[in-house]
Amino acid sequence: MNQYWSDVVAGLAPYTPGEQPKQGGLIKLNTNENPYGPSPRVLAALGDEVADTLRLYPDPEAGRLKAAVAEYYDLEPTQVFVGNGSDEVLAHTFQALLKHEQALLFPDITYSFYSVYCRLYRIEFVQVPLNDHFEICVEDYQRPNGGIIFPNPNAPTGCLLPLDNIEKLLQLNRQSVVVIDEAYIDFGGDSAVALVNRYPNLLVVQTLSKSRSLAGLRVGFALGHEQLIEALDRVKNSFNSYPLDRLAIGGAVAALEDRDYFEVTRTKVMRTRERLAADLEQLGFEVLPSADNFIFCRHPAFSAPALSLMLREKGIIVRHFSGGRVGQYLRITEGTDEECQILTKTLADYFQALVSE
Ligand code: PMP
Repeated sequence: MNQYWSDVVAGLAPYTPGEQPKQGGLIKLNTNENPYGPSPRVLAALGDEVADTLRLYPDPEAGRLKAAVAEYYDLEPTQVFVGNGSDEVLAHTFQALLKHEQALLFPDITYSFYSVYCRLYRIEFVQVPLNDHFEICVEDYQRPNGGIIFPNPNAPTGCLLPLDNIEKLLQLNRQSVVVIDEAYIDFGGDSAVALVNRYPNLLVVQTLSKSRSLAGLRVGFALGHEQLIEALDRVKNSFNSYPLDRLAIGGAVAALEDRDYFEVTRTKVMRTRERLAADLEQLGFEVLPSADNFIFCRHPAFSAPALSLMLREKGIIVRHFSGGRVGQYLRITEGTDEECQILTKTLADYFQALVSE
C-alpha cells in the first residue's frame, strides 16, 4: 500500500501464474503447456517475419489472422476478435460485455483469473458451486445475472460439459452474454463455435497456447455475433491498437493452416492423458475424468502439498492450489510419455520407501 496508489490498485489481488523456472533440466508439468514444439511451418513463418518490415507497425486489425480463424471455423471475419493471448481477450470481454448491474456468474472452482478481472473492472460476481462430482449444472445458472462465464472443459478440474448442456444453458439464458472459455477444447470436447450463428449472446474464446504449442507467442481469439466482436474492438482500440505483433500474426496463421501437425500432436497428448490417468489410478490416486491436457487427482493417503514438495525436490513441477475443496488435489500437465513415466516412477518409489521404513 502506498499513498500514490489508486483505490482500484489497493484493492487488487493479482493472478499468480505457475512457476516458470529459470534453471533448465526440470520436468515441467505445471502450466499446461504442450510438450511438443510448434509446427515447423510456424517456425518458418516466424523466420519470414524477421525482416526489414519489422520497422513498420503490424496490421492493427490482424486481418490475415482473422481471415484464417474465420476460414477454420467457417465463420465471417467480422465474427472474429484476436488478442495477445486469450487472457487479454478475456480481460476485454469482462470490461466490454460482462460488467452490468446484475452479478456475473461463474463456478466456485474455475480459472482463478476471472475473479481477478472482476476486481480490476469492479464487476460484481457470484460463484456457483460445482456439484459433488465437480460438474457444472446448467440449472444452477438459472437466475438473474449480468453474464455467465466458465471454461469448457473446466480448469483445473478437467470436467467437460457436453454441448447439449451448453445449448440448454443458452436457451435458458438469453438476456445476458454467455462466454465459453475453450482454452482446452481441442483435447477432447465439442466446440460451442457450432452454436455461434444461432445464439447472438454466445462468445467462444480460444487460444493457440495449448493445442497449437504457442504459449510463448501469445495469441488468443474470440468468436461470436459481430456486435459482440464490435464491443471487444471498441475496448481494444481504446487500449492498444497493436496487441499482436508481426511475428504473432504470421506464426498464428501458419499454425491454423497446419492441420496435420495439430492432429498428430493433440492425439499424442490425449493418449498420454489416458495412460497417465491409468498409471496414477494404479498408484492409488483418485483421478477426475479429464478432457483437458492435464489431470486433476488426489491421493487418499498423502497430502497434496507434501507430494508437490517432494516432486519439486526431485525436479518435477506440478501445480497445487491451496484451500477449499481443491486443497488435496494436484493438477498435472501431460508431458511426453517419458516425462509422465518419470513422474509415476518417482511417486511409486516414494510410496515404496515409506512402506519399507
Ligand atoms: N483460460 C483458461 C481456462 C486457462 O487455463 C488459460 C491458461 N492459463 C487461459 C485461459 C489463458 O491462456 P492464454 O492467455 O495463454 O491464451
